[in-house]
This record gives sequence, C-alpha cells and structure tokens, in this order.
Amino acid sequence: MTYPVHLQRSSSSRLAVYDFSNIRFGQNPTDHLFSAVYRDGKWQEAEVRPFQDFLISPLALCLHYGQTVFEGMKAFRLINGEVSIFRPDKHLQRLNRSLERMCMPEIPEPLFISALDSLVSTDEGWVSGLAGNSLYLRPLVFASEARLGVHEAAEYRFMIIAMPIANYYNGSVRVKVETQYTRAAEGGAGYAKHGGNYGPALLPTRLARAQGFDQVLWTDGKTHKFIEESGTMNVMFVIDGKLVTPPLKDTILDGVNRDSILTLARDRNMITEEREIGYEELQDAFQRGSTVEAFGIGTAAVFTPISEIDILGTSYFPSVSENGVSARLSRALQDIRTGVDADPYHWNHIVTVNKTTKIV
Ligand SMILES: *Cc1c(COP(=O)(O)O)cnc(C)c1O
Repeated sequence: MTYPVHLQRSSSSRLAVYDFSNIRFGQNPTDHLFSAVYRDGKWQEAEVRPFQDFLISPLALCLHYGQTVFEGMKAFRLINGEVSIFRPDKHLQRLNRSLERMCMPEIPEPLFISALDSLVSTDEGWVSGLAGNSLYLRPLVFASEARLGVHEAAEYRFMIIAMPIANYYNGSVRVKVETQYTRAAEGGAGYAKHGGNYGPALLPTRLARAQGFDQVLWTDGKTHKFIEESGTMNVMFVIDGKLVTPPLKDTILDGVNRDSILTLARDRNMITEEREIGYEELQDAFQRGSTVEAFGIGTAAVFTPISEIDILGTSYFPSVSENGVSARLSRALQDIRTGVDADPYHWNHIVTVNKTTKIV
C-alpha cells in the first residue's frame, strides 16, 4: 500500500558541488525534505519539497514542553547499484513506541514507507556508492500547535531530512562508568527516542571529557552498578566468547543495530546473553584475565570499539582487534547492508519510485 506524496522539485541542486570524499556530517542536507501535517485527527499534506527553513510560531508546543521524537536510519547504495533502506519496519515500530510514550499520533506504515521512498528516490543521487558512505535519514515528529499550556498538542509535523554520512570510524573510545548522573530512570522514557533524553546527557559527557574520556557508560539510576548504554549507543561485551548485552527495558533504547548484531551472532552459533551486567562483573572478568571486548553500536557511528573503561578511578583495557569477534560481526552486518552478502533476513528495503507520486 502506498500513500500519495506530492512532489515539488527543487529548481536547483547542490549535488554537483558536493564533495563526497570530504563529508562533514550534520550540515549539508540533500536538496529535498519530506513534510506532513497532523491536523483534525489525521496526517495530511504529505509532500517532498525543496529543503529550506520554515516558519514556526514561538507558541509552538515543541519549543516549550518537549513533545519531540526522532529516528536515525540509513539508505545504502548496494553493490548492484540499487538503493536500499535498512530495516525501515523496525525503525517505524520504535518510532511509534516513542510517539505513544509522548502522547503523539502514530505514523501509519504506508505513510512512513511512502515518505522514505519518495524522499530517497527524489534525492537518489545523494546516495553515494563510495566505500563506507551512506545517506543518513532523520525522521522527526514535533508538536507544532501554537497554543501555550501543558497539554497534548492537536497539531504535529512529521518531517524527514536526509544527508550524506561517511563511515566515521574515529578509532576506539575511552569511556568512564558514570555513577553520579542518570540517563534514564525506571518508569521514565529512556526507551523512547525523544529529544528530552539527549539534552541532559550533555553535561555528564562534558564532565567526562574534561577528565580525558570520550563518553560515559551509563548505569542504572537506582544502584549505579549495572551498565545500560554507551553514550548514545547500545553497549555490548564479548566475555570469554559470549556476547553479553543489557536486556531491553524502559531505560534502554531498543537499537536496530543491537538487534541485528544479536541475530547475526545467534546464527553463527555464538552464545548470546541479554541480561544485567554490573561493573563488578567486568572488574572480575578483567582481573581473571578473561578476553573482554566492549563496543558501542548504533546507526550513526555503526561500531565503536571501547579501548578503555574507567571503573571508579581504575582503568581496564578491553581488547580491540580487527579480527575480534565484535569487529567481525560488525563487518558481517555491513556486508548485508551494502549488498556484498545475501540478505536472508530481508533487512534491506529496496527503494522504488512511488507510483502515486504526482510530479509537479
Ligand atoms: C538511537 C540510539 C541507539 C541506537 O539505536 P540504533 O537503532 O541502533 O541506531 C542507542 N541508544 C540510544 C540512546 C539511542 O538514541
């Protein structure tokens, strides 16, 4: 099923002057964006139009009370030349869980898929086939109703912006187990990708950087003993050959990459454990001399090995190797997304031009 999307083409393109060998993420969107409005109880005015600034009332509720939700996903140029979006169905499920938590209207699947297909096919030239490059897609939904007061808004915008991204492997990171600040509390909204979870994380991250670390390893808000996430990524460990990651619950973001890596590991007959993992267990493993790998996993930076973990002032050093278990799993995932390997899980959504799109 498709959803009609109106297309208003840009009269000029920045593509010809864009340097794909020097991608600076975050500041160079493609020529178009997708936009829809939720009004009178339904989504309407779905359109792909030139990327440009838009007007919003200072009374818009998103600016005051934080009804904002986003996603982060990627489109890849497969080696056969087709363009594929990685696991849009899984991203939509999460987007709708986030929206539900924030009392915002859900996005129906035909609207979501048609929105992605229309935008990505319109800006297809921006999906670079250079090794490691892809097109980052940022769906966002926010309350646009201009009526002050803490209440569920009656009007929302759903937009998708797109921009090239390189496989920015910046080497490994040094992290600190955070035992003072909390990213997400039980009963809170840590599992939702909503704006309010990210602003408060900036200060603890700044403080960790001042101490020489790149990121914090978040712990649970009650005891500050159990590892939850690494910065804005899910965290995984390989301990004595077993893949261990904290279990999903309301303080943990249900990452698409986390799920994909678990699936690949299980299918390679690795033992996988989704369970609580305390920093004391990590200390023990390091002191026993076990082989420990630690890594962050998420859409933007994909796979980030952790080379140092500070636990209450003592440093421990996980092994980082091109031939490690985690690096191999990460490469297997990348080979599926780029069409180098078969896609037995049907994770790749091949982009087709939306037949109902009206070219204007
Ligand atoms: C987005 C995000 C992740 C990773 O999710 P992916 O779907 O793999 O990109 C992990 N943790 C947090 C806090 C996030 O916001």
